[in-house]
Amino acid sequence: MNISSALLPDLIDAVADTIASHAEEVTALDQAIGDGDHLINLQRGLNALMAQSDELAELAWPIAWQKIGMTMMSTIGGASGSLFGTLFVAMSKAARELPLNQTGFAEIFMEAVNAVKQRGKSDIGEKTLLDVLCPVADYLQTAVAENVELATLLTELDKVAIAGMETTRDMLATKGRAAFLDERSRGHIDAGAKTTQLMIAAVVEVLLAA
Ligand code: ADP
Ligand code: MG
Repeated sequence: MNISSALLPDLIDAVADTIASHAEEVTALDQAIGDGDHLINLQRGLNALMAQSDELAELAWPIAWQKIGMTMMSTIGGASGSLFGTLFVAMSKAARELPLNQTGFAEIFMEAVNAVKQRGKSDIGEKTLLDVLCPVADYLQTAVAENVELATLLTELDKVAIAGMETTRDMLATKGRAAFLDERSRGHIDAGAKTTQLMIAAVVEVLLAA
């Protein structure tokens, strides 16, 4: 399968659609242990990306990732804006040194997740979007090392993201606004983990159909 950046308009639309259809759920999650703005923040970014999607479709992946990251940083706001933005900008940077094949992509994604950890001064287990990104990055590396066929890899990736999102429910938040609630942060899924999982599911669905 040749995964071309011409897929970007479909990818962005699919991501925006799934976020819109889970709007109430996401807002309720951020209201429970955050300040309730995560959905609006993210949708502002996705609207900006939709407006750029034809232009993005013409760009090589590393240039598109850079642009996506910069747009996310400047439009989403909140903690998540700089973190999602960092993910894409760091993917672009890592892609300068690595080939754009499956093994290269697994390394690019791992480096980008490490950049998000540094930016957020956080790691897996702190009830954030990293509880989805870290297991996904690990799974990608394992799967490419084992030569897992792409359709199987994508299907498993979706499940890994869901499992990661679910782990945040019982965690104690130690980063972000939810950390102020201390023990009361337990019992709620993290909003950023939920939207990250939804976005990964949308990407998987588009790639499986491509
Ligand atoms: P804000 O918290 O500034 O209102 P958002 O509501 O847009 O920003 O995003 C909140 C999400 O950002 C959280 O649900 C969490 O997943 C993520 N997050 C917040 N702080 C951090 C951090 N330091 N490291 C990783 N993720 C974080
Ligand atoms: Mg918020």
